[in-house]
Amino acid sequence: MSLADITARMTAATKAAGRSPGCVTLIAVSKTQPDARVEEVLREGHRVFGENRVQEAAGKWPGFRETYSGIDLHLIGPLQSNKVRQAFDLFQTIHSVDRPKLATTIARISDELGHCPDLFLQVNTGEEDQKAGVLPRDADGFIAECRSLSLPVKGLMCIPPVDEEPSLHFALLAKIAARNDLDGLSMGMSGDFESAIAQGATHIRVGSAIFGERDYS
Ligand SMILES: *Cc1c(COP(=O)(O)O)cnc(C)c1O
Repeated sequence: MSLADITARMTAATKAAGRSPGCVTLIAVSKTQPDARVEEVLREGHRVFGENRVQEAAGKWPGFRETYSGIDLHLIGPLQSNKVRQAFDLFQTIHSVDRPKLATTIARISDELGHCPDLFLQVNTGEEDQKAGVLPRDADGFIAECRSLSLPVKGLMCIPPVDEEPSLHFALLAKIAARNDLDGLSMGMSGDFESAIAQGATHIRVGSAIFGERDYS
């Protein structure tokens, strides 16, 4: 698949859902992809990218930023408290605010630096032990806590369990967001972004469908 194929499918899914054109942002997830491949997508004019590791992003994006303007970088993977400062430097949006301690650290550094990336709070909709995020029953409290810290909370993020129907998880995330007056929904990946768009996704995170399979070796 190419970037153009994915945008065409996005546009069709947005229309089919009766949503307005352009209301979904495509985050091209470039983690582990070779620089040459990422650069092809930059040359096609795309500017919104996602990375799941601060360290990897730090090695890759400052260089691209010297050549390409307007790069909008999203952190979609776990953030350790000691990397928050570096994340503020690199990312315009953080999708993985997954625990109160991290929210407190972000608030402190935000006070210190006078700016803060946009934030999505991660909800562990499948209640999986190995997955980050607050449990659905703790989400309202966590949202309130982040708001009381004056954090710029834009929405919620989830990664459904691999072996379950993703649309149930997307619907649950949308319900929690709606009852908390949050507009942003970061959900949907290569295999399920159309279903996520049908459920109201505002940000889809698509890697392998754009770049090809990842090589972790
Ligand atoms: C890697 C990753 C994606 C992209 O996954 P694909 O299946 O390659 O589209 C999306 N979201 C998160 C959090 C990821 O880590």
